[in-house]
Amino acid sequence: MPALAFVVLTFTFAAPPEFIIEGGLEPGDTLAKAAKQCWRDLEQSYSRITQSLATPGGGVIRIVQGALNVTEAGKGRFGRVTLRQRRVGLVDEAMLTALRHELAHQFLMSVCPQATDDRLFHEAFALATSGEIEQWTSGEYLSTPRAQALLERSKELDAPSARRALARLLVEGARDTDALPIALTRRLRMCAVGGRWAEPVSIGELSAPGAAAVGNALVILNRHSGEVLRTEGMAHVPMPFGSTLKPFVVAGAGAITPHLQPVPRRPEWLCGDDMPAMMDVGTALLRSCNGYFLDWAQGKDGASGFGTYGALLIRLGLERLPEDMSEAIGIRPTLALSPWAVAQAFRVLAAGSPEVIELLKQNAERGTLGTLKASSRLAGVATKTGTVRDSQSRPTLGWIAAVTDDLVVVRTCAGRAPRTFAGEIVKDLQVRSEGQDETRVQTFGLLSKAQIEASCDGVGVVTDGEKLTYLETGFLPLVQHVEVGSSICVGAPWLIRFPTTRESGRPYAGIFRLSPLPPPGPTQEGATKRQQRARRGSEIVFSTSRARYVAGVINSEDASIRGEARVALGAVIAHNAAQPRHGYRPLCDTTHCQVFQGTHPPLAGDDAIFEISWSPTGWLHFARGGTDPWRQSVPRILVDEILGANPIGIAIRDGRIHYSRTVVAGGNPHDEVTDIPCDLLRSRLRLPSCPEQVEVGSQEVVFFGRGQGHGVGLDVEWAKQSGLDAKAILEQAYGH
Ligand SMILES: [Zn+2]
Ligand SMILES: [Zn+2]
Repeated sequence: MPALAFVVLTFTFAAPPEFIIEGGLEPGDTLAKAAKQCWRDLEQSYSRITQSLATPGGGVIRIVQGALNVTEAGKGRFGRVTLRQRRVGLVDEAMLTALRHELAHQFLMSVCPQATDDRLFHEAFALATSGEIEQWTSGEYLSTPRAQALLERSKELDAPSARRALARLLVEGARDTDALPIALTRRLRMCAVGGRWAEPVSIGELSAPGAAAVGNALVILNRHSGEVLRTEGMAHVPMPFGSTLKPFVVAGAGAITPHLQPVPRRPEWLCGDDMPAMMDVGTALLRSCNGYFLDWAQGKDGASGFGTYGALLIRLGLERLPEDMSEAIGIRPTLALSPWAVAQAFRVLAAGSPEVIELLKQNAERGTLGTLKASSRLAGVATKTGTVRDSQSRPTLGWIAAVTDDLVVVRTCAGRAPRTFAGEIVKDLQVRSEGQDETRVQTFGLLSKAQIEASCDGVGVVTDGEKLTYLETGFLPLVQHVEVGSSICVGAPWLIRFPTTRESGRPYAGIFRLSPLPPPGPTQEGATKRQQRARRGSEIVFSTSRARYVAGVINSEDASIRGEARVALGAVIAHNAAQPRHGYRPLCDTTHCQVFQGTHPPLAGDDAIFEISWSPTGWLHFARGGTDPWRQSVPRILVDEILGANPIGIAIRDGRIHYSRTVVAGGNPHDEVTDIPCDLLRSRLRLPSCPEQVEVGSQEVVFFGRGQGHGVGLDVEWAKQSGLDAKAILEQAYGH
């Protein structure tokens, strides 16, 4: 090939070839300038892809007027490009595209002479770099198998039908960073290292999902706390997602979804038996009907961008928004997302678009997971399947995402269709169920709302039921978020700080919402302002898993407790979590209910907390307890405030303080015998426990006692020393 003799590889960008415009093409300088720019672009992307600076330079390329002979195309001569100018002096976009296409062939011949006879490689490269793919793929959707068949039949790669088929395969192939199909960039790297061109590029190679990974993975999340309960396999590896994200297309479109007429002659519309005359979005989603989604996108701009969920998926690792619906619904396996990211996205979907989750609950009944042995056991579980197929339409990767009231499960299986592993999802849902139900807590009722700041180290997102609002990083007033809607920190616990916490805040793994308080009830006699505020509760309601709540309360109560005593204490806290201390509202986070200062990861063995079989009723008291003696003196004036004037004859028995006080009735002072709950005195005076003895002086009162707490119910220090198992501890503390 003598024309290539002048090609010299250098280690810097060489001067581009000299472009000579001939044969009446006008204006010559415009065309020469366009050719130079095109060549520079090709050089730059080539060196970026191959990581080498070696590009050819010099030489002469003649650009001449003439009809393009299609049989010549793709194996053109180096140094000569034929262009057709429709009108003298007119350089339009079509002509520039043709110029770029032909120069791509020229460029490839110079950098990769060993591939000069590989016509498919040449044509694919020219199509992919000339910017004409769009025009060949904008018509009616062409499926991969049909595109392959068309391409195999066509003799001339430059014929329109062949270009259309090839363009379809190219957009469906996995992309590299340079927006070129991976199949091409891999081959270009072979060019750069001078690799022998033993095999020409094949049709299958171009349409393979490329370098995108596929593999087995499992992710189980708690919907309330967001904690990852289990991951297995390639949970963090991005993989093509098939139809798994269709619910986000639907949710992102909001209320505006069309009714469409099925087109049975098109394979994308083969969506099960008993096709309705008009298909609605619910049926389309349950049947995962590609035809519906593709036709929908024809009529609506942006439906394929996932609407308000697009930015979430980007933040979770999606490389970019889909270019069109076929990419959004995974027919083109060009984009990838990890199973972890898909699980996180479904958690947000469940909070932001519960109506879509409701719809997906029918999937095991009348959708893609219907009529299976596992179907009845998945009844009421929201599920979505996804299948990634190879060029022969065999499944290369199956996905199932499942959402229950408490869990999100995402499982992928390499080489299997989702229907073949639905039974495994049933098992996954049973693996972690104890303590995974929701616990809500009224939080921060004793603070003023402006003092509470929240920060999310993951993706902070607020849903108002219609759209998602994405939060900036750093500490911001929590009230700003909850006033908009449910506030979710994806991938991390919220960090909450206020003036008495440390600067970095406390972890709260869960969702914050605003829930307005009912009007205040009558003031309770003898209660301080603080106690009244605690009883009233808080507008800011926090939702997490019961397991995380219980571990959090245990941590506030006695962070060092382990073993059977921990299980017993945890069982009490878990039981109390469902008790109505605030009417229909959840527990508060103060001593009025159970002190809760943030979530805590459960310890190994905490599962036993939820496995104890006992059925107590009502609120269960517990306290630090123990027998260490203590002594505390209190100003007399504070004691008189609680007990009344001149208390005498104080005796403590049966958890009550018995005494006499001076009252004035009808102008005559006299002594009155009375009693109050010991716990009222204990909490108002902040004594470690109910005292056993009292010494009343003129200025101060000295209390003596043992252990910590109110002495009612479970004594935590006693439980730790008891040597009993958890069940026996509970029976001792609360009776049989
Ligand atoms: Zn060509
Ligand atoms: Zn309370």
